Amino acid sequence: MTISPTITPDGPQPAMPRRFLGRTAVVTGSTSGIGLGIATALAAEGANLVLNGFGDAATIEATRAQLAEKYAVGVVYSDADLALPQAVRELFALAKAKFGLVDILVNNAAIQFVSPIEDFPDTKWDSILAINLSAAFHAIKAVLPDMRARGYGRIINISAVHGLVAEAFKSAYVASKHGLIGLTKATALEAATNGVTCNAICPAYVWTPLVEQQIDEQAHRLGISREAVIANLFLANQPQKRFATVEQIGAITTFLCSDAAGCITGAALSVDGGWSAR
Ligand code: NAD
Repeated sequence: MTISPTITPDGPQPAMPRRFLGRTAVVTGSTSGIGLGIATALAAEGANLVLNGFGDAATIEATRAQLAEKYAVGVVYSDADLALPQAVRELFALAKAKFGLVDILVNNAAIQFVSPIEDFPDTKWDSILAINLSAAFHAIKAVLPDMRARGYGRIINISAVHGLVAEAFKSAYVASKHGLIGLTKATALEAATNGVTCNAICPAYVWTPLVEQQIDEQAHRLGISREAVIANLFLANQPQKRFATVEQIGAITTFLCSDAAGCITGAALSVDGGWSAR
C-alpha cells in the first residue's frame, strides 16, 4: 500500500511554473490603477512588459525597476500618447525592437468625462473616442499580423459595465466602451482560426487610488460621509455592494491569457457584482 505524504499548510509548496515566461505583454495605461495591477499579474507569471501611461517620471521609473527586479523580467516604459495613432504605432515598434513579437496586448487606457449631451464639449468626445476606442483598433492592427504568424495571441480589452448598460451624462464613455465590445467581437472572428483570442473584461467600480480619491472629493463636495458616498453613489447599482480589486482584474486577465481559456473568444466578461444582470 502506498501512503501519500501528509500535506500541511506550513509545508514546502511546489514552485508553480510561471505561465508566461518568455512572452511579451503590452499593457496600455499601466502607470496606475487597473493597468498596473494587470501588468503586475503578468510580470508575476514571467511576462516581459511594456508599460505605458502618464504620471510622475520618477515614480514611473521606480515602478518599472521594481517590477523588473521583483519578477526577474524585462520591463520598458513608453510615454506614447494613445490619442495619436502614430504614437500607438511607435509604442509597438518599441515593443518589437526591445522584446521581439508581442504575445499579449491589454488595451486598458481610458479617460472619462461627465456632462449632459447638450453641454458635452466636442473636443472631449473626440479625445474619449480616440483614447478609449480608436487606440485599441490601432494597437490590434499593429500586433495581429505577428500573432497570426506565430499562432498565438491574447488580446484583452478593458471595457466596463458601461459597455453593457448605459448611464446618463456619460455618453462618450458609454459609446466608447460599447464600441470596444464590438471591436472585441470583430477581432475574435477575424482571428478565430489563428490561435488568437480577443475578449473584453467589463468591470463595475474597482477599488483604485483614483476611486478612493473620488470618494473623498464627493464626500467633501456633498458634505456627507465616505460611507454614504460609497453606498449611495458608487455601489447604488451594484447588487454585491462591494468593489472589485485590481488583483481580481489581474487574475482574470492572466486566466484569459492561459491555455485553459483558449476556447474563450469574443466574450464580454462582466465583473460587476451583478450590476448588468438586472
Ligand atoms: P486610471 O485613470 O487609474 O488609469 C488610466 C491609465 O491610462 C493611466 O495609466 C493613465 O496615465 C493612462 N492614460 C490616460 N490617457 C492616456 C493617453 N492619452 N495615452 C496613454 N495613456 C493614457 O484608470 P483605472 O480606473 O485604472 O481604469 C483602467 C481601465 O479600467 C479603463 O479602461 C477604465 O475605463 C476601466 N474601468 C475602470 C473602473 C474603475 O472603477 N476604476 C471601472 C470600470 C472600468
